[in-house]
Amino acid sequence: MTHKKMQGISPKLLSGAVVEAESSTKGQVNTAVKESRNGSADFGPNSLQEAIQYFGGNLYIATEFLATVRWPNGPQCPACESRQHSYISTRRIWKCRECGRQYSAKLGTIFEDSPIPLDKWMLAVWMIVNCKNGVSSYEIAKDVKVTQKSAWFMLHRIREAMGTAKGFGAKPKLGHSDGGSGVEVDETFVGGRFRNMHKDKKVELQRSRGEQIEPDLHIGKAIVMGMLDRDLREVRAHVIPNVQRETLQNAILKHVKYGSRVFTDEWAGYNGLNYRFVHDVVNHMETYVNGIVHTQGIENFWSLFKRMLRGTYVSVEPFHLQRYADEQAFRFNNRGGKNKDDRITDGQRFRKVLAQVVGKRLTYAELTGKVGETTPF
Ligand SMILES: [Zn+2]
Repeated sequence: MTHKKMQGISPKLLSGAVVEAESSTKGQVNTAVKESRNGSADFGPNSLQEAIQYFGGNLYIATEFLATVRWPNGPQCPACESRQHSYISTRRIWKCRECGRQYSAKLGTIFEDSPIPLDKWMLAVWMIVNCKNGVSSYEIAKDVKVTQKSAWFMLHRIREAMGTAKGFGAKPKLGHSDGGSGVEVDETFVGGRFRNMHKDKKVELQRSRGEQIEPDLHIGKAIVMGMLDRDLREVRAHVIPNVQRETLQNAILKHVKYGSRVFTDEWAGYNGLNYRFVHDVVNHMETYVNGIVHTQGIENFWSLFKRMLRGTYVSVEPFHLQRYADEQAFRFNNRGGKNKDDRITDGQRFRKVLAQVVGKRLTYAELTGKVGETTPF
């Protein structure tokens, strides 16, 4: 096929001209374009099998899908924001008519600079967002047909997109200033092969946290703090350096509205929260749950998180733990409600994470701390 520059493309997405250029994909492109132009939020695949049929080996469909999600109103030049463009179908890039800049759908996303074809990326994204306990790089390598090292890197980049921001980020605060159903706050210790810890430390940890610490986690020791808004059914989880009062309360002040009802355990680090919040303390020594005063929601999240770490990911360094917390929080926050109406489908979860890929980068050097080493793919 000769290099062909597409001119005069007015539709939002890839044009009919692309279909002419790539007659073998004609049917699929037409269907995808039609669905997306209908304004339906449910375009694209809705199961793993459909995703394989939809994207497998088809860079045009994968590019179009990403473009549709990131530019719902049509491709837009990242330099001058013009929507006037022509499409170079052979290279799957757009050329801005205002400033002349060429841009791809991958530009400025976690996919930028990756030689892994976009259709393989799509399948990897599908798998990690929709597998309840995560998916290992070995599974991705086998199913998507990339090397295990590439798969490992791909998964970390996708986790970067699943995270809403660095750390707890600048998101709207949780809770209700008039109390509301409340926010459960808790921290958990991950890893460090608990049974190898010094005895005093072990006793202190177990007593202070009032929780059973897994003895066999093969993970560098780290602490994760979590907050669960019962009304929004939203969890935020972040690796913290220690469980000191200042650390815990600064995080709460930053993320929970004044006046909110806050549930914690009896750890001294939470003392004094009642100045700005309605603070209820859970007594873990009591065997019954005292009405609404409990932290079972966030504890449920911890058990999912640890199940994922134990079952799917063999060895997690503390350095990477935040991304695993982001991964589990994303799935937890996008699991849908109990009612049929607010259930979130696999396809919706997939499109949601694709909408978050923009503006996030993660280089191999950042990931490994090995500056100067070339990326594996
Ligand atoms: Zn431009």
